[in-house]
Amino acid sequence: MSRPVVIAHLYPQELSTYGDTGNIRALVQRLAWRGFDVEVRPVGVGTPVDLAEVDLLFGGGGQDSGQAVVSKDLLQRGPAIREAALEGLPMLLICGSYQLFGRSFTTVTGTELPGIGVFDLTTVGSGQRMVGNIVLETEDLGRVVGFENHSGRTLLAPGQQPLGRVTKGFGNDEDRRFEGARTGACIGTYLHGPVLPKNPRLADHLLLAALRRRHGVQELAPLDDAVELAASATAASRPQ
Ligand code: GLN
Repeated sequence: MSRPVVIAHLYPQELSTYGDTGNIRALVQRLAWRGFDVEVRPVGVGTPVDLAEVDLLFGGGGQDSGQAVVSKDLLQRGPAIREAALEGLPMLLICGSYQLFGRSFTTVTGTELPGIGVFDLTTVGSGQRMVGNIVLETEDLGRVVGFENHSGRTLLAPGQQPLGRVTKGFGNDEDRRFEGARTGACIGTYLHGPVLPKNPRLADHLLLAALRRRHGVQELAPLDDAVELAASATAASRPQ
């Protein structure tokens, strides 16, 4: 029997706001529709995980307090995660996880949480929350829709590729230009929603990267995404 596709879910207790766990459900379902077995491994503070066995790494958003709880544990995993990122392990990091996968996150009260540096960016909490529906245009994944709610302003270092350009909403900061970050097969974004059910192309981009790497799959069987695309169009038409 073929090996299951292994998805590691970082800190499901501390970092999972606005339905971010729905991203895991979307990934599992899209794999199941295509006949793959899937295993989801929750990774809490102190849970050992061998990234050599993992096909896709996911982390959700959370409050500053939740980020503070996991930050030390994440730092210890930093070298292994950075190495896995360099070796092409696909990752999706939302909001609070996205911030901690940068170089640092300074909360609005001035506490600095060091990040693990998968992305070359820094985030500083502000007094203004950036809340609402958000739409981006990406170079190769088309339009991406979601919902954002963060006080952190994220500044990309020169050369750090964003996920997309904001056409509605805030994104990384109130300049409203760039959203998210992309390094190799790793994607960081502020988009909740959850983001993957309404953005099947993004979901399949991550799945294909995972399946190509260690499952010998070169292309994905197409799915009927009529419902997902209708949800995406509705989300895109909403006011900010
Ligand atoms: N604490 C972060 C902020 O408000 C992350 C919020 C989130 O993950 N939704 O900027």
